[in-house]
Amino acid sequence: MEFEAVIGLEVHAQLKTKTKIFCSCSASFGAPPNTHTCPVCLGMPGVLPVLNKKVVEFATLMALATNCEINHESRFARKNYFYPDLPKGYQISQYELPIALRGHIDIETNGNIKRIGITRIHMEEDAGKLTHDQGRSFSMVDFNRTGVPLIEIVSEPDIRSPEEAGAYLRKLRSIVRYIDICDGNMEEGSFRCDANISIRPKGTETLGTRTELKNLNSFKNVEKSLHFEIERQKDIILEEGRVTQETRLWDPDKNRTTSMREKEEAHDYRYFPDPDLLPLVIDDDWIETIKKALPELPDEKKNRFKKEYNLPVYDADVLTTSRELADYFENCVKEFPNPKQVSNWVMGSLLGLLNAKEKTIDQSPISPINLARLLKLMDEGIISGKIAKTVFEEMAQSGKPPKEIVEEKGLVQVSDTSAIDDVVTNVLSRCSKEVEKYKSGKTKLFGFFVGQVMKETKGKANPKIVNEVLKINLIAIDRYAENNHHENTKIRKHEIYI
Ligand code: ADP
Ligand code: MG
Ligand code: ZN
Repeated sequence: MEFEAVIGLEVHAQLKTKTKIFCSCSASFGAPPNTHTCPVCLGMPGVLPVLNKKVVEFATLMALATNCEINHESRFARKNYFYPDLPKGYQISQYELPIALRGHIDIETNGNIKRIGITRIHMEEDAGKLTHDQGRSFSMVDFNRTGVPLIEIVSEPDIRSPEEAGAYLRKLRSIVRYIDICDGNMEEGSFRCDANISIRPKGTETLGTRTELKNLNSFKNVEKSLHFEIERQKDIILEEGRVTQETRLWDPDKNRTTSMREKEEAHDYRYFPDPDLLPLVIDDDWIETIKKALPELPDEKKNRFKKEYNLPVYDADVLTTSRELADYFENCVKEFPNPKQVSNWVMGSLLGLLNAKEKTIDQSPISPINLARLLKLMDEGIISGKIAKTVFEEMAQSGKPPKEIVEEKGLVQVSDTSAIDDVVTNVLSRCSKEVEKYKSGKTKLFGFFVGQVMKETKGKANPKIVNEVLKINLIAIDRYAENNHHENTKIRKHEIYI
């Protein structure tokens, strides 16, 4: 029997607001434990939450960026459960009436575009952080994260493979970064994902029993855990057992999932509307204002790059993975309007450099203007392609403009024909043995002569001119031998120039 996987993802994105969702405490990460707290986020009795407008703005941006319908009236609800990281004993979330419903995004796998439905987006507060240190008989809790704003984005069960799940997550992350509402860092937990997965015989419609996978803190772990879970569920079904609906924990060291707890049902949480918060009313004017603030999104940018710069799909895809990289490319093209050449250098040398140095494009030691200037120097024949690589390395070290480096190190390309001719003449007289062989038909030695000239000029000779001058010299030698002429080769060469 052939099976297919059915996957739906729940993604939590931590919003980049200055303050928490219902109080004025700082939402920033990394402060000493319990310093970003107040009676509201600590859940003291007699205090009231006040909704942070920025959170609504960010959630609306995301809803628009993912083609959702926005609810003009939405509500906050209490999700009740007991856990030491939750001082109020409930989490303020949205349940029956979330801010947005029925959206979609397009993903691309193996060149095919597929639409993945988004069921809903809602706003909620984060819980605190527990640490269970080894060797201690107690746990510690940090409430700095309590009340930090999140949006949860729930997908339809439209995803059919771990690879599609990865593509969906990457696209979603790229969107939150484009609209600048979340830093999208999976390792640090500001962009988290739970994966729901079931399998069913291929061609059937009914959904199988699902498990929910947690502790997926990288794209790789999401894909690996789904692969594992597909096989585990297959084995159970083929042995005529039943998959238990449960929450399972991914163990990245042992590469497997283990049962964590039976799945809670909604009624376990006793959801009810939070009486401390008014229904949230959003009017069309507000939506229109937010719409205007929406930047060009990854798909639009990619399509524009293909058209406007005539770039291959692959290039357009890579260059638009982040807004910053796309801006870098465009700033470079403004100065040096050869998009394909800029693309080659950005995707090759520049991304290679940043990767090796573990830097982001914002931290690039080479500014887009300086990269453009480098390409210009090469285009004008002032430096060769080979020297350009050397200058690029220097720029990576010092951040200096390319012209300065070229002048300092005397790297200007030699395009002076007579200077190159002198070197060629030298090389040919020094390598008389090879010249003999060349004359007797070993024309492959041409490359050897080019190499010798480049070596003697420390790579600075213009290779095009080296080729021309070498050809002329070799022809001249040839004719000289044929005619047994007593003129010197210089004169013969001169005739050929004319
Ligand atoms: P909860 O986790 O709170 O019960 P939902 O029932 O809304 O939430 O489902 C959460 C996610 O699980 C959604 O992304 C949904 O697409 C996905 N999902 C629901 N049923 C299945 C299933 N049978 N197989 C795979 N994914 C599923
Ligand atoms: Mg869930
Ligand atoms: Zn607070």
